[in-house]
This record gives sequence, C-alpha cells and structure tokens, in this order.
Amino acid sequence: MEPSYLIKPLLDKDYPVISHGEGIYLYDIAGNKYLDGCSGAVTASIGHNIQSVIEAMMDQASKVSFVYRSQFTSEPSEKLATKLMEISPGDVNWSFFVNSGTEAIETAMKIAIQHWQEIGLPQKTKVISRWNSYHGITIGALSLSGFTTRRERFESLLEKSPIVEPPYCYRCPFEDTYPNCQLKCATDLERAILDVGPDSIAAFIAEPIVGAAAGAITPPDGYYEKIREICNTYNILFIADEVMSGIGRTGEMFAINHWKVVPDIICIGKGMSAGYTPIAATLVSNKVIDPILRGSKIIMSGHTYSANPQSTAVSLAVLQYIEQNNLVEHAAIIGDYLFEKLQKLKNAYKIIGDVRGKGLFIGIELVADKVKKYPFSFEKAVTKRLVEIAQWNGLLIYPANAGIDNNGGDAFIIAPPLTITEKQVDDLVTLLDKSLKQLESEMLS
Ligand code: PLP
Repeated sequence: MEPSYLIKPLLDKDYPVISHGEGIYLYDIAGNKYLDGCSGAVTASIGHNIQSVIEAMMDQASKVSFVYRSQFTSEPSEKLATKLMEISPGDVNWSFFVNSGTEAIETAMKIAIQHWQEIGLPQKTKVISRWNSYHGITIGALSLSGFTTRRERFESLLEKSPIVEPPYCYRCPFEDTYPNCQLKCATDLERAILDVGPDSIAAFIAEPIVGAAAGAITPPDGYYEKIREICNTYNILFIADEVMSGIGRTGEMFAINHWKVVPDIICIGKGMSAGYTPIAATLVSNKVIDPILRGSKIIMSGHTYSANPQSTAVSLAVLQYIEQNNLVEHAAIIGDYLFEKLQKLKNAYKIIGDVRGKGLFIGIELVADKVKKYPFSFEKAVTKRLVEIAQWNGLLIYPANAGIDNNGGDAFIIAPPLTITEKQVDDLVTLLDKSLKQLESEMLS
C-alpha cells in the first residue's frame, strides 16, 4: 500500500487491509482469514455479505437514497418505525433516527429534558449515570460515560452530573456479596438522587449489560426492578442504553427484557443495521412523548441524515433477516453452549478471573492473581496483548478497558455474529484457548 494519510486509532500501528467478508469471517488482502469473534465493535451481528440486505440496499439506491426529513418521510422509515414499535417493550412506541449510538444518547438526554420542560418542570436537567460505563464520544454523551481514560483529557468540559456505582459483583464497589448486599449498588442511585435533589434530575441512564467499559458486567436479579422502583418514586426517567446489548445480542431482543423491566427511553445502534449502514435510534415511550405532542410538537434535535431512506431500508432488511432466521432465540441457545465452554477455560487458566454475560455477549476478565483478584499491572497491557495474539492466530476479540484503564480490571468481550453455528463456536474456543496459552506463558513467566 502507498503511504497513508488516514488517521487511524493508533497512528504508529500497521493495520491489515481488509478485502472482503463472508458470514462470520473476514479476509485481508494478504490472504489471512479472521474468525470475527466480536462482530467488529459488537456490530456485525448477522455476519458479512448477507444477500437479502445487499438486495434491499441496491433496491433502495435505485429509487432514492436521501430525502430531507423536514420535507418528506419515506416508506422504509415509516416501516422501520413500525417494526421497532412492535419489538420494543411496553409502550416504547416512537422512533427518532440518528446516525450513531452517541447521537442516540444525546437525543435521549434532550428528549428527557424536553419532556420535563413541557410539563412545567424545566429545572429537571441532570442525567445520572454509572461508573464503568460507556455512552458515547461527544461531550454530552462522554459526560455520562464512567470511563476514566476517555474522560480525562476533556474533564473540564464535561457536564457535572452525578455518577453512581455499577452492579459489578466480581469487584463489588461496596465489598459485599449478593444477595447479602441487599443491592447497595441500586440504592446508590437513591443516595445520589437525594444528594442532588430529585427536582433537578431528568433521568438515570444505564447499559443493561455493560459493554466497552468493563466487559459484559451483568447485574444480579432484582437490580433493575429496584432501579425502576427508585426512578418511579422520584419522578425520574429511566434510559436504557442498548446500543451494544440490544437487537438480539443477549438472547432477548433487548437486554433489559431479561428482567422484565420497561424503560422510558431506549437507545439502539450497532446491531440495528449490523454494520451495513450507519444508523441508530432513540426509542421513546408514550409517557415521554405525550406532553411533547400536547405542547410544542417538535423534538428540538435532528441531523441531516436522520431517517434517510437508504439507511432505514437497510436496517429494516437486517431486522427482517433476524426475525426470519430466529436469531434472537438462536443467540440464547448457542450463547449457553459458548458460555459453558468459556467457563471450562476459566477453570483451566490461572489468568481468567471471571466469565459473565448473557446470550452472545460474554465478558472475560483477566487477573494476575485469581484468588485475590489482583489485576495485571498497567504496563503489562494484558488485554491489548491478548487481542494481538488472537488476531495473529486468526481470531478477533473486543478489548474492554484494553489494559490501559485498570480501574476495573482487564476484560475482553466475545460477541460473534448471532448466526454462528456450534461448529464455529468450537473453532472460536480452540483459537481462544491457543491464544490464552501463549498469553499465560508470557505473563506468568
Ligand atoms: N453506547 C454504548 C453502550 C456503546 O457501546 C457505544 C459504542 O460502543 C455507544 C453508546 C456509542 O455508539 P457509537 O460509537 O455508534 O457512537
């Protein structure tokens, strides 16, 4: 390749150049094959080169790719909104389309604030979030993200909203154990609300199962039930950030469904188009939108490419593919099969401290001392090293905390496309086993 002027995540690293993808595999121009064990950034959830999606893409492109949403609506956008209404829990019926997960979060913040303005409570503007979380990269969404390494350069610009403790049982912030703890992590929300005053708080936001900032942290039963109760008591909206965990990834359409709790607002992205086009959405309940419909009748947000028919047609085709192939049910079943195999690896390796998650959204935490749960030192960059070894062996895994942010340990995520077969799970685990063997010998020698 010629010298490049593309700004890449690490400017001093050589990245393989990809040539094409097929199912759960990617191929580079040097002829290397990679098993996509993390769907890229937990995104390519139906695998690559799916014919029906390509056809929908071509078909829409041959009609019209862009209309301005303030002038027109389109059939694919209307159909996609209807499909999302059907699959969303409770009365979460309304869709606002954007281009990235970050924008979905920004929109959720604005809609929550606007909701309270329309009913005469304009002082409710703060959004409470949790540590060990990631909600996006712009200043607003980053303000909510409890991800220290991504915040630190911009800290002075971030909104000063309260951040509470996460339900991180493996490293309980209260040094307690479930169920003895009586869910102190949930009541920490109540403490923060009372500290700041419920009259100033618009919403609480959480990833139902945490992704990038810690590696599939999964709360104990009762946690979200309690969160919902606290939000109701203090008149606070509950926003579920399902950008990574949503659209079948965990073996339920939305991860929050595992606890049968209905949020007021849900943010989705990634799996919504499975990487075939940039699109994301903020899904809003009747309760949230009703005062806006009765009041100003306009959502004070939007982007040039919001609801462009090219992207909504592609997303619709992806959702149809997921439905027609029963991929949500498949993710639950094959996810259990994978989880069992990863638990066996945990028993076999001194450096695996925890395996957690649901469906095909599984986090593995690496530790220097399994009994004391000590993380590896910062300098070892252990997850970064494992990602390198695995890629060399032909397996892609997703770093969470990546060995550069040790505030929650070193974790990585296994989240292959929902289409993965049992045989392919076996291959994934074989490649991971081989990679862990090399890592363990390097780290413990
Ligand atoms: N929310 C969660 C839970 C995410 O995992 C991400 C991205 O990883 C985002 C929001 C931001 O999405 P995007 O990168 O599409 O802006």
